[in-house]
Amino acid sequence: MAEEVNAFPQTLTIAGTDSGGGAGVMADLKTMQERHVFSTAVIVAVTAQNTLGVQDFMALPKKLIDEQFASLADDLAIKACKTGMLADAEHVRIVADNLRKYDFGPLTVDPVMIAKGGAALLADDAIEVVKEELLPLATIVTPNLPEAERLTGMTIATPDDTKLAAQQLQAAGAKNVIIKGGHGDTDTVSDYVLLADGHDFWLSSPRVDTVRTHGTGDTLSSCMTAELAKGHDIETAIRTAKDFVEAAIKNTIQVGHGHGPLNHWA
Ligand code: PLP
Repeated sequence: MAEEVNAFPQTLTIAGTDSGGGAGVMADLKTMQERHVFSTAVIVAVTAQNTLGVQDFMALPKKLIDEQFASLADDLAIKACKTGMLADAEHVRIVADNLRKYDFGPLTVDPVMIAKGGAALLADDAIEVVKEELLPLATIVTPNLPEAERLTGMTIATPDDTKLAAQQLQAAGAKNVIIKGGHGDTDTVSDYVLLADGHDFWLSSPRVDTVRTHGTGDTLSSCMTAELAKGHDIETAIRTAKDFVEAAIKNTIQVGHGHGPLNHWA
């Protein structure tokens, strides 16, 4: 097929759905749409969810996941992809196998573990598999503080701990790392970035006092993916995504009774 018919920037999210529309694949597709790329999805799991929490979920059978990957590889020209909720060790392996099989461009790994309401979206025994199979494929990994602690086995209490954790994630194979500070309790949210070439910096923004932050991590990682698909470098993609999420939290919309969604068109 001639390459020019497939020239428009195309992205892929490999993740779980959120019936409530605020997180997961739904947040990814909305974000990618806002960033003017064409978005596609491989659904790994389906959740029954609203702003109050995750009521139930089920991961899809391997055959159907493999077929979704094959369908995309047969026709589209995906330029960047991301992973989100992957449910359990078996599904992390299925996704890693497919990512080794097909070239979908730079990979953003959002190591989704626990939803804001407390539901586990990744089984404990999958964490080792994420480290061994997914991090070596990652262009960038985007853990929040609790996720970085689980992935490294460290307790992160100081900025120096954060830096050390990022170095460990890089040693585990992720080329670039952002450790998100949103789960801390300071007035300023500081994210730490360690790039492949060793260059590092902090991105800080004032904490917004709101419970309407559902899907923040998904929005950040899918915005990065969109920018990478457009050909931007990793630092530009990170800075654009941080600004996008900040605006989406500040201009939040009134949806649901609990952890409401971001405003993706802010
Ligand atoms: N549901 C799904 C399917 C997700 O992928 C995620 C986050 O990645 C969440 C829920 C959790 O979102 P939050 O922790 O922002 O509530």
